[in-house]
Amino acid sequence: MSIDIKNKVAVLDATAFYAGIPLSSSSSSSPSSIQYYTTTAVINEVKHIKQSIDAIDLLVKTGRLRVVDPTQEYIEEVRAYAKDVGEYDLSDADISIIALALMMHQRSSEYGVTIVTDDYSIANVAMVIGLSISYTISKGIRYSGKWVRYCKVCRITYSDASKVCRICGNELRSRLVSRLK
Ligand SMILES: [Zn+2]
Repeated sequence: MSIDIKNKVAVLDATAFYAGIPLSSSSSSSPSSIQYYTTTAVINEVKHIKQSIDAIDLLVKTGRLRVVDPTQEYIEEVRAYAKDVGEYDLSDADISIIALALMMHQRSSEYGVTIVTDDYSIANVAMVIGLSISYTISKGIRYSGKWVRYCKVCRITYSDASKVCRICGNELRSRLVSRLK
């Protein structure tokens, strides 16, 4: 995975896992100095992808991926920022990722902290706070496979071509449900 992250700490949201980061880099022979972090909420969101679970377990065992949860103080700070900029559809997992990045940014200023995401709402709030963002989609490194559309608010999956959720009207996201080799 040749994503361009100069910083040493990469905080991954669910879309980063769906895009295959850092799942593919676990099998790469080239050494990487990037330390990956994510939260329990994100792990719970991505563990429905069977292929991911073994890779995530391996990454955690080998210390490449650390699962750390932000304190309530940071979660509330991020919620306040999100409200300020009108981002109301962020899930608890989304908030947890921004809050973790903010916590690490403030506690370890010697390390550059980057959030890896494809989610515009996460990126928007993170940039308002002054956190660094790295996109995966713009690099064109999505895996092929079966994608479904889902509402991140209602947690409903749509197998048709719907663009917005029929329950709440939010714009649907795409999620990889099975990866092709
Ligand atoms: Zn919905």
